[in-house]
Amino acid sequence: MVFEDLLKEIKSYGLEEEEIKKAYEMAKLYHEGQYRQSGEPYITHPLNVAFILAKLHADKDTICAGLLHDLLEDTKCTKEEIARCFNPEVANMVDGVTKLAKMNFSSKEDQYLANTRKIISSIKEDVRIIIIKLADRLHNMRTLQFKSELKQKENAKETLSLFAKIADYIGAYHLKIELEDLSLKYLEPEWYKKIQEQRYNVQEKNQECIKEMIYKIKTMLDDKEIPNELKYRIKSVYGIYKHLIRGHKLSDVHDLIALSLIVDEVEKCYYSLYLVHKEYHPFNEHFKDYICSPKTNMYSALHTTVFGLDGRLIQVQIKTFEMDQISSYGLTAYWNIKKGNVREIMQENLKNSFQFYKPLQEIDKMAKNNKQFVRQMEKELLGEQIYIYTSNGNVIGLPLGSTPIDLAYRLNKKTGNNLKKVLVNDEEVPLDYHLESKDRVKIITEDTEGPKKDWIEKVQTSYAKRKIKEYTEK
Ligand code: MN
Repeated sequence: MVFEDLLKEIKSYGLEEEEIKKAYEMAKLYHEGQYRQSGEPYITHPLNVAFILAKLHADKDTICAGLLHDLLEDTKCTKEEIARCFNPEVANMVDGVTKLAKMNFSSKEDQYLANTRKIISSIKEDVRIIIIKLADRLHNMRTLQFKSELKQKENAKETLSLFAKIADYIGAYHLKIELEDLSLKYLEPEWYKKIQEQRYNVQEKNQECIKEMIYKIKTMLDDKEIPNELKYRIKSVYGIYKHLIRGHKLSDVHDLIALSLIVDEVEKCYYSLYLVHKEYHPFNEHFKDYICSPKTNMYSALHTTVFGLDGRLIQVQIKTFEMDQISSYGLTAYWNIKKGNVREIMQENLKNSFQFYKPLQEIDKMAKNNKQFVRQMEKELLGEQIYIYTSNGNVIGLPLGSTPIDLAYRLNKKTGNNLKKVLVNDEEVPLDYHLESKDRVKIITEDTEGPKKDWIEKVQTSYAKRKIKEYTEK
């Protein structure tokens, strides 16, 4: 990777090179004489980070910040200088990914907690900061072989438990998959090798079958003059790993091979579904409509699993071109599909459409110190989630162990305060019932005397806790 590769990439989507050149020269100058553990000049790292961002079609300021991202941490350059040479937003982004200095803390643990909080809560100001951080982490993971074994395991663990989760929350599928797979490579090398081989075999064995399916479906769509694009993927190493450690067999993974069928309009997704099912019988147990009911990270598509050639199960994902962008890149897709003030567009979207945002904000508001913030994040957003249905069919993600009280407050404060009775799958349950994925939950409210004091012991989420406290202390 050289600077010319980055230039070529940014020109491919219409960015001007002038300021990006300037950022590159500045980073090169400041990092002069610094080397990575691989022996390469340090500048190769920010260059690669900027390249990952350019692949996502990031805006000019973000590419500049990507190139400059290690200046404040590793050189004498100051935030003011970056603001002066570029603009305050670039300076803010670089500052956002910069770790707080060791000397401000009495222990390594304190420093770690403060930095974790800093990077996660940057999402509220400018989500591009965390995207730069994800690109930074991705390049570091790609080059992890040069670190000590201890560092490898440490980084891989943090990547899996924090950064891959955040990538998932913002819907950045490609980033998430690569971060997960690279983490597994260092955490469970044996598994990683074994699954990689299995993946390769699946690919080899099914190539003809997939080719034929793609050809057949494409011909059908062309005949009906529906603009289309078809591609396929084998499930990621980490995705397969999660099935295997639960004792599933490889052949039972229903989305091991997934074919993406991309068309131009929503209506045509449903029509294409009919065409696919007419040709390949559906395995009815596995149909999902994420178009009318998107995932909590805004992923939308139709999922069906069909009997392909030789009875082999193949998943078919049907989406529009825009859905394909969102399902591949999540929030970062907005760099590509919307013009205007990208920071504002992304923040606005995050606030209105992505479910993790509200709890994140609440955890930040409630935490009395960095340790509390990180622990609550681990419990509420980074740990296992359950997905339940409200009585009108909305899907809500909640931390494992949540009760109907958590749900009521997630819906809104009034529902929480007036919660009277709860039906789960049509049967009344106590208020401290532990919800499970796929539960259908009906909340019945009444003008009550408000939440009981002991409810506070029965909730997992920060928002519910705060509202109960506020009410009962009044
Ligand atoms: Mn870096």
